[in-house]
Parts: sequence; structure tokens; C-alpha cells
Amino acid sequence: MWTSFLSRRHRIAAVAAFFAAAVTLVAAVLVAREGRVHVHADHNRVLAGTALGMQGFVGARLDLAHLLEAQFLRERPETTAAFSEITEPVLNLFSDFQAINWVDPNGVIRWVTPLAGNEAALNLNLNSLPDPKRVLDSARSSSELRLTPPLTLAQGPRGFVGYLAIGGDAAQNGTLNLVFRTDLLLREAFKHAPLAGYAVRVRDGDATLFESDADFGQRVVVASRPVALADRAWTVELAQFQARHRVFDLADPYVAAIGLVLAAVTWFTTITVVGNQERSDITHRRFQDFARINSDWFWETDDTLRFSYLSERFQEVTGTPPDKFIGRTRAEIGAPGASDKALKNLLATMEARKPFSNFVHHRQHPERGLVYLSISGIPVFQEGRFIGYRGIGRDVTLERRHEEELAAAAVAAERANRAKSEFLATMSHELRTPLNAIMGFSDILRQQYFGPLGNQNYEGYARDIFISGEHLLTLINDILDISAIEAGKRMVDVSDVDVTKILEDCIRVFDVQCASKDITITTTVHRLDSPIQSDARMVRQIFINLISNAIKYNNPGGRVDVDAQLQDDRFIISVADTGIGIPANRISAVTQPFSRLHDDPHLTHEGTGLGLAIVKALTAMAGGTLSIASEEGVGSTFVVTLPAVLADGEDAWHAPSTSTPSHTL
Ligand code: ADP
Repeated sequence: MWTSFLSRRHRIAAVAAFFAAAVTLVAAVLVAREGRVHVHADHNRVLAGTALGMQGFVGARLDLAHLLEAQFLRERPETTAAFSEITEPVLNLFSDFQAINWVDPNGVIRWVTPLAGNEAALNLNLNSLPDPKRVLDSARSSSELRLTPPLTLAQGPRGFVGYLAIGGDAAQNGTLNLVFRTDLLLREAFKHAPLAGYAVRVRDGDATLFESDADFGQRVVVASRPVALADRAWTVELAQFQARHRVFDLADPYVAAIGLVLAAVTWFTTITVVGNQERSDITHRRFQDFARINSDWFWETDDTLRFSYLSERFQEVTGTPPDKFIGRTRAEIGAPGASDKALKNLLATMEARKPFSNFVHHRQHPERGLVYLSISGIPVFQEGRFIGYRGIGRDVTLERRHEEELAAAAVAAERANRAKSEFLATMSHELRTPLNAIMGFSDILRQQYFGPLGNQNYEGYARDIFISGEHLLTLINDILDISAIEAGKRMVDVSDVDVTKILEDCIRVFDVQCASKDITITTTVHRLDSPIQSDARMVRQIFINLISNAIKYNNPGGRVDVDAQLQDDRFIISVADTGIGIPANRISAVTQPFSRLHDDPHLTHEGTGLGLAIVKALTAMAGGTLSIASEEGVGSTFVVTLPAVLADGEDAWHAPSTSTPSHTL
């Protein structure tokens, strides 16, 4: 609690309230003492207490004009709603105000609070009313509060009005307009006055502001006293039916008590007002701090969707001063970079008072170039009435640039990959032609079709040329295969595939190799008595590549178990061997093109390093999976799972992937 008293504003308010209370109290005591001396002094003493009480009471309200002025300059309200946020605490606390209004620099009452009961004042041009105009002009040429003489208010009853040029500059900030109903205000002011049989009247020059009793005119005025309020001199008069004597002997303690009560009331009300002020100030400052340190910015519109606030950060991000947007709508300032449709949607959403998020557009920053902004907002309602939008904005330039770079990189990678595949396909074709000659002629030489070569060494060289040519041809065919798949050029050719027959043909190819390494191949076929709808070339290639590896990387005397079966809607091929196996940490590498794990020159000479990559690519494109289980020195099992029925045409193939196909283990 005490911490709130530490602020400067709070201390000043407390000291001011204390002095007000002390002055009232001392005056009351002095008046009471005076009253004991003379009957005439009794009148004056009652009058002095009454007048000072009234002066304190009315003066406290007039002083609020400066508080409101300070708040106005800090908040700079742009709408009636914002203005009434400033006046509301004062109106709530001091019910004797008729209204607190804002007069624009042209002398027209623009904002009226509260509006209810004061509608007649709205848009009233004060220049057309001689009395108010005169006082308004006088207020405009000073920075002090100026009061009108009593007049008939636009709302009907009698009253008076105070004008205060805001910040001493009415042409810039307008004027505060405090409206009082005299009967309401002064009845309240004299409620606790020590009148004790007196009637009281307040005059401003010849005009009567207030009479406490309807029959005041029938009484005798016994004392009168001037009271200065702002720039006006009022006169407070006391009247009674007949002369009274020593009345204040009795009244003294009451005067003191009332002074004390008035002092306490003044003190507490001031503290409350200042306390409220302080709290709203803290909230305001807190918000300002958050707004300053946040990398996003905050914005606000009024109920006509005109921007009324943009936090500082907006200017840092966009290089545009907020003033350029303040007072304008989104439709007026536009949203460069957003499509017409997107902008239309946004405007419709705002017209419908609905929330929106991540509306992206861009602005040209003088130094940073194009900056991308993402805007979100919510409609705000007060007591069911729409009062505007509040929202945040975010700088998404970096995100946007990354997205663009990623998209460009993906396109470039795709293009490069296709170029590579096309290059390989062309090269492979070009290589195959001379290779035919190399192989054909070396075969003729090694077979010695046209007579003996004459020297044993030539025969050996011719054989080596032929075997190397054969290896080169396999390699080229494999490269052609994989590049065709990756370039998305391999077509699916669905037909009735007799798996048992294909498997038998494949096994036969390896007869010689099996015999030379003493390897036994067993085959098991389940539920494949009738043909399946698949691509025969693909099935054959998978069998050949897996079985050739199972033999190649097997030990002499080893075993190869080939299993093909139909399970529900899947066609599963499994090739298991008892060979050298694959180290656990290399299993994922073996499906990469040209990856070889084994250094044995004999083995590496035999392979191209593309067999498993082709299996993997074919499987993935047919929508299947390849899984590998292996243990070094024990053996490996390769399982390919394919859809049992392949659709015909290009749709059957899944999009070619430039990344390594994933596999399950
Ligand atoms: P390669 O033409 O070299 O056989 P692959 O793509 O068919 O190329 O196989 C890649 C590598 O994976 C092989 O070099 C070999 O090291 C390893 N590998 C493939 N199959 C087996 C297997 N059944 N047993 C052990 N290692 C294997």
C-alpha cells in the first residue's frame, strides 16, 4: 500500500489535499473564534465557513480540469471512446458534474461525456452563442481555466461552464469544457454547511446562481462575502427572518466538525482520484514498455476502422512513420504484395467485425528494401458495442526469404538431378555403341574364328578385353536403369506375371556360379499358383539383383533361400543367405548408388555398386518397401514388399525421389 505513496504525483496530491483540509479547518476555527466577539461577527463567521466550504468544494472540481488536461496531453485521445476513458473516473467520482466535453479547435463541441442527457450539447458551435464564445475566446488566449457567468445550458437547466485551453494551445489541442448544473452542484456544496437557520444565496454579479430556500427573497440579507473561483468573483449571501444573537456560541463546535469532515472528504477523494490516475498510469507505462521491447508491433483502430495507434516498432520495421497511417483505414493505405482477393477478404472480415490472423503483405523500407509483414487482429467490444480493432504485426521477411530460397534450391536440385540423369542416359547410349564393337571383335579373337592368334598371350588379352567389356556393359545398363527410374522415364508395363516361372528362369542363370562356389539355392513359393498383375521386368530385376548378391557375398558351401509369396494385398520376396553379412552400421549405406562395403578385389570387380540401389528405387516407385536384416559372418536377409496388383500406366509409379529411398530394417 505504502509503495503507491512513493510516486511523485501521489505525494503532491496528498500534500495538496492536506493543505486544503488544513485551510478549511483553520478557517472554520478562526470563524468560530470571531463569532464569540460580536453578533455581527457571528453572521460573518457562518458566512466565512460556508463560503470557504463552498469554495473548497467547487474549487476541487475546477482543479480537476488541470488533471484532465494532463491526462489528455498524455493519452492524446482521438475518439469519443478514448476521451471518455479519461473523463469516466472523474464523472464516476463526482456525480455533480453535468458533463465534461471536448471542444475542437474550431469551437465546436465534438465529444460529450456522458452523452446520455447531454445530447443537445453535441456538435454545438459555441461561436454562435455570445456568452460562451466570449469566455471560450478568453480561455483560448490564456492557459488558465475560465468560467462563464450563469447561463441556461443547452441541456435545459441553469448552470455555468468552465473552459481550459488544453496545453495552453487550443488551436492545436482543443479546449476542455466542464459543465455544471448550479442547483445540483451548489446544493451538494452546502449540504454540510453550518447554516443553522440561515438561508444562503450565491450570485455572480447581478445574476443569481443558487438560493438554498425558495423564500430567500422574503428574508433579510445579513452578511455577504465575495468568493473567487477561477477568473470569476461570486458573492455568497446569508439571510435570516430576524436578527439572531450569539448564534455561533452554539454553532462553534459544529463549524469545526464540518470543517474537519469537509477536509477528510477532500483528502480522501483526492487520494482516490490520484490513486486511480496512478494505477492507470502504471498500466499505461507497462504497456508502453512491452510495446517497446517486443519484436512485434501493436496497432489499434477506432470504430470506423481508422488506425488510431501504431507502436514505435512499426517504424523500425517498415521505415514508415506511424503518422502516415494514423487516421486512415486499411482500404485507404492498401496492402502491397497481397492479392486483390486477399485484401478484399481482409476488408470483408473487418467489416464483419471478425478476428483475422497472418495477413501477409509487404512494404518498401528505404534501407532494408522489401519487408514482409504479417498482421493479426481482433475486434474489441465494450458493453456490446464495437469500439475498434486491436492487433499485432510481425516482420516475416527472413521467413519469407528462406521459403523463397528453399523453393529455388529445390527447383535447382530437381533440375540438376534431371540434367544428371539425362546426361547419364545419353552417355550410356554413346558408350554402348563402341562397346559392341569391342566385345564383338574381342569375342572373335578369343574364339579364333579366322584362324589361330599365333601367341598364347594374345588369346589371354582377348579374353580379358571381352570380360572387361562385359562388366562395362553391365555397368552401363545399370546406370541406364537407375537414371531412367530417377528421371521418371521408366514406364510400368503391367501384365500377367507368372512368378514361379520367372524365379525358375532366374535361378537357372546362376547355375554355373552356384556350382563353382558349391552353393545350394532353395526356392519356396506360396499362394502364387495363378499369375499376378505386375511388371515382369521389375520382378525379374529384383530377383536377379538380390540372388546374385546372395551368391556373390556367400561363403563356399553356403545356402541361399528364396521365398516368394502372396499375403493379402502384398507380394513379398525374401532372399536370405548364409554369407559374409553386412556390418550393422553400414546397412543403411548399401542401397546408395556405388556403395561397396567389401574391399575384396575379386568381389568388387564382380559388382557395379548399383544392384541394391536399383532394387530400392524400383521398390519405392512401385509403392513398396525394402527391408534388410544382416549379421556379419552369419548372413543377410533382404525382403521386398510390393503391392500385389500394380495399376497400369504412369500412375502406377510413385514420384521419383532425388533423395535416398528410406528403408525399414
Ligand atoms: P554390387 O554390385 O557391389 O554388389 P550392390 O548395390 O548390389 O552392388 O550392393 C552394394 C554393396 O552391398 C555390395 O558391394 C556389398 O558390399 C553389399 N551387399 C549387397 N548384398 C549383400 C549380401 N547379400 N551380403 C553381404 N553384403 C552384401
